[in-house]
Amino acid sequence: MKYFIGNWKMFGVPKSINILNKINSFYLKDKNCKKYRVIVTPPYTLIESYSKHFKNKKIIIGSQNCYQKDHFSSNTSAVSPFMIKSVGAQYTLVGHSDNRIEGDTNHMLKNKVHFALKNNLKVVFCIGENKKEKQNKKTLNVLTRQISQVLDKNLKKNNIIVAYEPIWSIGTGKIPSSMELEKTIIHIKKVLKTTFKSKSPAVLYGGSVDGSNVKIFKKIKEIDGFLIGGASKSSKKFIDIIKNYYR
Ligand code: PEP
Repeated sequence: MKYFIGNWKMFGVPKSINILNKINSFYLKDKNCKKYRVIVTPPYTLIESYSKHFKNKKIIIGSQNCYQKDHFSSNTSAVSPFMIKSVGAQYTLVGHSDNRIEGDTNHMLKNKVHFALKNNLKVVFCIGENKKEKQNKKTLNVLTRQISQVLDKNLKKNNIIVAYEPIWSIGTGKIPSSMELEKTIIHIKKVLKTTFKSKSPAVLYGGSVDGSNVKIFKKIKEIDGFLIGGASKSSKKFIDIIKNYYR
């Protein structure tokens, strides 16, 4: 199964659902539709209405983040995995670099993963190195640490997906070379296999994915799908990515 996950970030109002309606119509007609899953993470404000609208349809709604506590608490503006699940989200991103930059530590992320899984949300755990770490050839060490400090073998592996998103690539149009990316994804899968003492969960790539460079990425068989930011806000761009992946 391949995954095409759209991360809307701080984008969207109720009528933006038209973008997803077009993607849903494409999906229903696509001869390849059984081979992949489409998940979109709109902002918190839209999760409930979009989840209701797409109930029993093909697009799955997720959240971009969740708080590191269960149920209810006295943390102003926080939204717990329990609350996200109660309005219909099926997935949540955890550890997106935007949130790491704003202060999410590995300890916090561990709690987020734990409580998300406890509330039956599937987790898309994001990892990735910054530009300096890449320049200093620290990429593989950074990724190993990000995985080992958050994931462990007692977690429900089948409900976890890992998204490799080099920070220097997000929203910049820059992408890793195929050789580099293949080596990195193989490394991540090896670390995950050791962590879970069984087959690695799906590993996605994210960072400036578009309808053109997806033709390069599709040659790397280890990539199980994509986390797509900018291009997921346009139905045409998102559909082009899927079309060109299977062309
Ligand atoms: C992201 O924000 O997760 C992302 C991959 O963004 P973009 O596709 O715009 O680089």
